[in-house]
Amino acid sequence: MHQRKRILVTGGSGFLGSHLCRRLLKENNDVLCVDNFFSSARDNVLDLKSHPHFELIRHDITMPLQVEVDEIYNLACPASPIHYQYDPVQTIKTCVLGSANMLDLARRLKCKIFQASTSEVYGDPEESPQAESYWGHVNPNGIRSCYDEGKRCAEALFFSYYREYQVPVKIGRIFNTYGPCMHPNDGRVVSNFIVQALRNAPLTVYGKGEQTRSFCYVDDLIDCMIRFMATDDELTGPINMGNPDEFTILELAQKVLDLTQSHSDIDFCPLPGDDPKQRRPDISLAKRYLNWTPRIALDEGLQKTIPYFRSMLKA
Ligand code: NAD
Ligand code: UDP
Repeated sequence: MHQRKRILVTGGSGFLGSHLCRRLLKENNDVLCVDNFFSSARDNVLDLKSHPHFELIRHDITMPLQVEVDEIYNLACPASPIHYQYDPVQTIKTCVLGSANMLDLARRLKCKIFQASTSEVYGDPEESPQAESYWGHVNPNGIRSCYDEGKRCAEALFFSYYREYQVPVKIGRIFNTYGPCMHPNDGRVVSNFIVQALRNAPLTVYGKGEQTRSFCYVDDLIDCMIRFMATDDELTGPINMGNPDEFTILELAQKVLDLTQSHSDIDFCPLPGDDPKQRRPDISLAKRYLNWTPRIALDEGLQKTIPYFRSMLKA
């Protein structure tokens, strides 16, 4: 029989967090959502407010938190480059102090804690696909470093708590994920292109659009997180989570134009500093240990995402 758990989701009002809260509630858990609304709107979880098993607390995880829970998913951190670069000091504090606070909580409660790490730990990778054994190629002081190095330091912290205090940690390295409930002004490529296409405004392709990304639909990703959390304490990761189908940014732009039947042009804009040239996960570990493989291809995922933005823009 299912044992109802009380589960803390930090960053629970964000894009991934709001999906995770919904999924955990659906599986008959109590969800405690903690967020400071830095990069999300409270509206993302507004519909859950009256749910008898959902609780929302406004809190910044750089401050300690005293609650009683059975599991923790640590997702709090702005993920879009424009958001994490807006206040880089706060981004590092969220990654490092925030993780330490959540790990202290997990240590006291002796509970499992999942860390939303990122493909950014690989930086601008010199090998592809990226396997977990690859140590990465990161500029330690560039404009992305507040996030990349913050997340790398968080991984080091998680492993230190595991080795020193035996905290059961689960580190998932998430690759570009998209879907409904992304903020229309989020700034990441999928939401930007869809919003621009629906407005018949030019699609802003940075650089020549030859850089690649591998896009995972949100439902697949959440499924992977939940499977990981359900594993034995020995399985710490890191484990890559993403869809290995790789596309150039120009290919993505063309797909969005086709699927929205938009008349938008493409505007080639300057490439931001340190923008990774390629990104593609090796998901052998996720397949082997979690029996997980993504099911939703990019076209299908975009078709599920476009109506969400259409309705947001109408509202
Ligand atoms: P998001 O920006 O939509 O959500 C992050 C949430 O964290 C927001 O609700 C924000 O307000 C909250 N937050 C930020 N700082 C906080 C703080 N100090 N205290 C409390 N709340 C805080 O981003 P997302 O796409 O949902 O990403 C969630 C997590 O997954 C992040 O940790 C991100 O680094 C990681 N991740 C996401 C992706 C992706 O493609 N979506 C890829 C790699 C890693
Ligand atoms: N990008 C783009 N146009 C946009 C937003 C992003 O061409 O309007 C590019 C960006 O330069 C990067 C890729 O799309 O190469 C993915 O960017 P995103 O911000 O979504 O995430 P990243 O993988 O860079 O963290």
